[in-house]
Amino acid sequence: MHLEFDVSSCIRATSKFSECTKCVDICPVSTIEMLDNTPAFTPSACINCGGCVGICPTESFSLSGFSPIEFFFKFLEEENNELVCQQDLYCCLSVLSVEHLISLAVASETPVIMDAKGCHCGGESTLLKEQIIANIEEANFILSSFSDKKILIKSVVATSLKKEEEQKVTDRRSFLSLKGAIKSKQAFDEAVVADELKSFGIDTAVIAGIRDKKIPDKRKLLYSVLKRVPKPLSYDVLASKDISFTSQKFIDESCTNCQICYRICPTGALSSNGKFSVINFDAMMCLKCHLCHDVCEPNAIQLQQGFEIKEFFEPTQRTLATFDIKRCNECGNYFTYTGGLKECLRCKSEEEEAMELHANARRMKLE
Ligand code: SF4
Ligand code: SF4
Ligand code: SF4
Repeated sequence: MHLEFDVSSCIRATSKFSECTKCVDICPVSTIEMLDNTPAFTPSACINCGGCVGICPTESFSLSGFSPIEFFFKFLEEENNELVCQQDLYCCLSVLSVEHLISLAVASETPVIMDAKGCHCGGESTLLKEQIIANIEEANFILSSFSDKKILIKSVVATSLKKEEEQKVTDRRSFLSLKGAIKSKQAFDEAVVADELKSFGIDTAVIAGIRDKKIPDKRKLLYSVLKRVPKPLSYDVLASKDISFTSQKFIDESCTNCQICYRICPTGALSSNGKFSVINFDAMMCLKCHLCHDVCEPNAIQLQQGFEIKEFFEPTQRTLATFDIKRCNECGNYFTYTGGLKECLRCKSEEEEAMELHANARRMKLE
């Protein structure tokens, strides 16, 4: 098993304005560093723990021969419901993101137990252990808003509870048979397509800029799992700061419709239409990668304080901003009309430049 990196998925490669350092911050042996604004690492120094794999919002890092999705389905088919570092995954438990943990907890008939405190993958460093516990706590916090399921940390599992779980006669595959068996990555991909995940209100044929947008497997998994459980009777709103992997946003009046945020968004969570007269947003596709905030010059795009759990079960596309679009009197291209000007900013600045040159020429003639 070795670490692999797909630079094209990294948001730092997408924009020099990205401030993401999650992979660097989690690496317990400090082998990941930023070189020319993109992550670089020394393979021989890498301990293949998978901490960066679990934390990267875009799944740019992966471990050869290890697929979290295949692990997910294998785990559901096995009797063992306990996860031990370096044993069940052949890497550290930190390879599983909060989305993976929520998916596991929801899909599993018995409580998932994680031996988080037994992690010694980082040697002296406690970074990975802390991340595993933080992931479990976040997953449990989110789970508590719509389910009575949760991930148990081994050291706090009461013996009686464990015995009770062992005695429980359950078919751990029943979840998979609920709406057709999904037993392989290929079958999973097909199931996702069948669920029309990519359609989420985004017309990919119209918006050329989002053609290559990618939704990470962990998000597709979470979406697919949540589609197969009953919807809660009511939905909570959780504080945004308590959710690390998605967000809800609003755009204030300082937005100039420069188009950068929705052109650059790695998943297409932010999108527009053919005339660029709206900015739409799908929370279920957002990775909270912060790129749109990093590139927005007037800071017009903002995080909503609360996150509506309803988005997990009934994803919607919301319009965050609308613009009056007109054709430029000079070049005929569309531009965002803000009143007054009948030309686009480019033609306006060319006109100003020409007037300045003309004035300079006149001045020189008079002198
Ligand atoms: S965590 Fe992922 S997106 Fe962020 S810098 Fe590292 S590789 Fe790039
Ligand atoms: S929100 Fe910011 S980045 Fe997006 S279009 Fe408006 S000004 Fe540009
Ligand atoms: S909407 Fe912003 S934070 Fe969400 S995925 Fe797109 S760029 Fe990242």
